[in-house]
Amino acid sequence: MDCIQQKPHAILVCFPLQGHLNPAVQLAIKLASKGFTITFINTQSIHHQITSNTQKDSDEDIFSDARKSGLDIHYTTVSDGLPLEFDRSLNHDQFMAAMFHVFSAHIDEAIQRLMESGPPVSCLIADSFLVQLGRVAKKHGLLYASFWTQPATVFTIYYHLDLLRLNGHFDCIDRREDAIDYIPGVQSIEPKDLTSYLQEEQTNTICHQITFKAIHDAKKADFVLSNNIHELELQAMTDLRKKVPFYAIGPLLEFTKCRVAVATSLWSKSDCTQWLDTKPTGSVLYISFGSYAHVTKNELQEIADGVKLSQVTFVWVLRPDIVSSNDSDPLPKGFREETGDRGMIIPWCFQNQVLSHPAIGGFFTQCGWSSILESIWYAVPLMCFPLIADQPTNRKLVVDWKIGINLCDKSQINKLEVSEKINILMKSGNHELKNIIKELRRTMEHALSREGSSERNMDQFINDFHQAI
Ligand code: UDP
Repeated sequence: MDCIQQKPHAILVCFPLQGHLNPAVQLAIKLASKGFTITFINTQSIHHQITSNTQKDSDEDIFSDARKSGLDIHYTTVSDGLPLEFDRSLNHDQFMAAMFHVFSAHIDEAIQRLMESGPPVSCLIADSFLVQLGRVAKKHGLLYASFWTQPATVFTIYYHLDLLRLNGHFDCIDRREDAIDYIPGVQSIEPKDLTSYLQEEQTNTICHQITFKAIHDAKKADFVLSNNIHELELQAMTDLRKKVPFYAIGPLLEFTKCRVAVATSLWSKSDCTQWLDTKPTGSVLYISFGSYAHVTKNELQEIADGVKLSQVTFVWVLRPDIVSSNDSDPLPKGFREETGDRGMIIPWCFQNQVLSHPAIGGFFTQCGWSSILESIWYAVPLMCFPLIADQPTNRKLVVDWKIGINLCDKSQINKLEVSEKINILMKSGNHELKNIIKELRRTMEHALSREGSSERNMDQFINDFHQAI
């Protein structure tokens, strides 16, 4: 009798922030195209945000088109423990506390329901920052894969947190200010290049607790799937592979002309393509600080004055909540009128579409990891202004790779520096940065090719997965 092997079924849970949702959706698509059945769990809040700005029915499944293309992806939502109307951006700590203390119980119940009603489940894949889910997976007898959406270098530094403590660079009085040259897999790094949480005076906020628990859980995971490219962080990757079943399978990117469209945008997108079509090649600066970091009103004003002074043409994504105060327009008075057709200011866009436009010559960014990968993919040099979390370390990588320049530290921001650095990015330094970033793009393309490292790592993961079930 023929034995028909059942498709492996994995539940995939994403962290409810844009920079985590996008690669998680791409991971679901990738795994489904490799023969997995995937049940994707989103929070009700994120689902509501997506459907309300795409004019979709509130009960519409965001993967319905993917299913029509033959991918076996199912979709369900659970509460994150907060009311739908709760402002998660404004009450960040309460949101994080709910993610830490409440969310895992809701996922636990959802898994129970799925196991009772659907095809047999063998694995739980969860964003690394969804802590407690390793325990939930084990409770249900499932394999646990932690999904890492930041650089491998950041994972390595957190992995060796005890070394930082032991050497007086973290969590002690009178912290050392010299370079850190003892972390395996990480070349000498300055304290200012550590993640923001490792630079803060406080060491036990809810974000610290989540981050440290995330690494603690990932160390014990059956697999760590990461949105990284082996060749980009060779040293960190080589060291990590000795310690953790770490599979770099990136870049997990949404391409502008992608085969399978899944709506993931949390805000409604303005289309600036027609406007960009009227601008010369490489002449426009794209400015965006991502989906959740904030700047102060003073920082924003210096940036705006610097942009104005630079005379450069720009597209600026100015999220309505970018300044954490109730200011209806945080830009300096007269900025919009004075810059006129030189600038397009929008609340949100399809970033991949903007970055892929030939008119874009540079990206002034907060250094979110997805943004960096996207910028490399479209060969757009960067200007770094890190704000929070992994962003300072990401900035170091960008500068070390020579695909971007550093603006300055937050505390030193001033319009002259902004204007000067924009002109380096867009004019005097652009050619050299562009040549190098094109090389990294080729490295990425190769990683995704049939014989490339990410493709091989994915195959290795699937092999190891089948061995383990
Ligand atoms: N993004 C977008 N439209 C925008 C700004 C950002 O679609 O106007 C997307 C961007 O393409 C990226 C994600 O939002 O995939 C942001 O993730 P990232 O890791 O760069 O930064 P974070 O938001 O986590 O700081």
